[in-house]
Amino acid sequence: MHVWMAIVVYNLLDQSPEELKKIMTAHGESGFRANQVLNWIYQGVYNPEHMTNLPAATRRFLKEETVCSVPGLEKLSTSKDGTKKALFRLLDGQLIEAVLMKYEHGYSVCISTQVGCRMGCRFCASTRGGLIRNLTSGEMIGQILALSSLCGHRISNVVLMGSGEPLDNFEEVRRFLEHVSAPWGLGIGQRHITLSTCGVAPMIRAFADLDNQVTLAISLHQTTDAKRRELMPIAQRYDLQELFDSLNYYQQKTGRRISFEFALLRDVNDSLEEARALAILLRGLKSHVNLIPLNEIEQGVFRRPDPAKVRAFQKELDRLGIETTIRREMGSDIDAACGQLKRSYLDQGGTDHGGNDQ
Ligand code: SAH
Repeated sequence: MHVWMAIVVYNLLDQSPEELKKIMTAHGESGFRANQVLNWIYQGVYNPEHMTNLPAATRRFLKEETVCSVPGLEKLSTSKDGTKKALFRLLDGQLIEAVLMKYEHGYSVCISTQVGCRMGCRFCASTRGGLIRNLTSGEMIGQILALSSLCGHRISNVVLMGSGEPLDNFEEVRRFLEHVSAPWGLGIGQRHITLSTCGVAPMIRAFADLDNQVTLAISLHQTTDAKRRELMPIAQRYDLQELFDSLNYYQQKTGRRISFEFALLRDVNDSLEEARALAILLRGLKSHVNLIPLNEIEQGVFRRPDPAKVRAFQKELDRLGIETTIRREMGSDIDAACGQLKRSYLDQGGTDHGGNDQ
């Protein structure tokens, strides 16, 4: 006779102290041990054997019933400017990318929120294979822990700008934002976190309702519905009117400035008329524009504008009173941008799965 048993393995990085307490008490462990366990983990100690203040039985429970979703490093590229791009392997064998950047004020990471993406933006490499699955909050935390131990420093800034659409994975991202800033978690202040979205309008309202301090960044890239629809399928669902209604709602609710990302594509959206149209669109909102000269991707149809054109675009926005920065190009020599490392790794014969997907 076969006895079928459901084996539940808990991912420790997905749990809050209260949740872990419940799990542990349900397994006959003392609830107060939960805080000790999370303490170890957020200090970078994942092996229960090394959690020296825990009794042997608790360590055994952890070994047998739990995992810690700190991803394995599959490949690391270091750029001339010091930027490191990591290709990580998750516990189920899926690959994701994350980037570590050093600034004067500390270390900043860019992490993924999904394996793949279903948004279909035409200039982006992460969406080429569609969405494979959502990441859990613990898998997002795991990327930060792995990058922190890689550089040996605390991480002070986090951007959700790796592969995936954060607002298409709302519940897990919400949980991540809580845990990453909690004193028992990574303790990274919400003002040091930025969430970037291609413009899922109803979820921007839901995000506003969370009433947190996280910076919102909008990938705008075009100034009319017709042109935006050609570049970004999400614009077919939510037009600029709906998008800006949701942004007004967000700003009324939070009072926070909104960041706009504008990827500059040669002869597509890099003219001075385009800069003026952008300034008109942003009128009335407290905003900041981040200009991103396109990172050209393999088999991509779009090109990057000349630097002079980028500067002229910025100057025009400046003249119109719009605050801008040109995104510092970090790691462009190592495929650091937007899903390119994973693609080039796969193209060179790397495998998509770790072999534990039988
Ligand atoms: N899905 C989210 C976050 C991930 S992408 C979003 O759309 O905002 C992070 C940023 O990189 C977005 O602004 C995205 O439009 C931009 N991006 C993607 N591919 C790019 C490329 N090849 N060159 C320049 N920017 C790119």
